[in-house]
Amino acid sequence: MNKCRLCGLIKPLLDSHSIPNSYFKAIFRKNNGKGVLLSAHDDPNHKSSNSGDWKLLCKECEQEINTGCEKYVINKFRYKRGAIESSHSIRFSNVDCAKIVRFCVAILWRASISPADLFRGFKLDGQLESIFKNYLKSNSNNIDEKLFSIYIYKLFDPKDVLNKFDSSFIMAPVTHNRKDFDLHQFVVEGFLFNISTPSLRHKDRNNINLIKSNHDFIISPRRSWFEEKELVKFLAASVHREQSKRELEALKSN
Ligand SMILES: [Zn+2]
Repeated sequence: MNKCRLCGLIKPLLDSHSIPNSYFKAIFRKNNGKGVLLSAHDDPNHKSSNSGDWKLLCKECEQEINTGCEKYVINKFRYKRGAIESSHSIRFSNVDCAKIVRFCVAILWRASISPADLFRGFKLDGQLESIFKNYLKSNSNNIDEKLFSIYIYKLFDPKDVLNKFDSSFIMAPVTHNRKDFDLHQFVVEGFLFNISTPSLRHKDRNNINLIKSNHDFIISPRRSWFEEKELVKFLAASVHREQSKRELEALKSN
């Protein structure tokens, strides 16, 4: 028995995932129980079967997040039902965008409070962490959207340089400090979620399709990995490690 980090009640706690377990299960299934997990930590937890779960939440709070937004968002992006795909973007219609907002907040908040290795390099500002917590707890969609802006890209690999590697990993939240805001990013199933705190000012919004709670559609522009310089550096280091390991194994078997 311990104190649930969301409702504060003393209850048995579950092994909670900061990033929904469904994403880990999907890549572990494809890769013999291991997945490539990248994190802001200096030494990314590479090729790991550790999904960074930790005793954070009670069953009720866990279920609330799961049924309140996670299932919905996972299915929306995974199956893309009714989405219109073009070479530039994917347009999803009839979307409950409030659930997308809640999903992003739930991931960032749980990553921020998690002691797991995978999230060690990620920490939200203390005040924001408590605002996010109260919002998740309240179960209403009432949150000041000046606190953040959300936009989502579908990543693609223009020349297949990454050799399909890019579709088989999860990138845990990482923060890049910009001049006027912090940009928190995470990647699941090839979608790059961007959350700036505070919200983007007008000049930073050009060509960005911001997601607002009261919208009923999302446009996710397709974006080449190679335009996301910080992510590419991350990936390049991982691909390099992967190759060196393979070469080493090949040498050993000869
Ligand atoms: Zn609870």
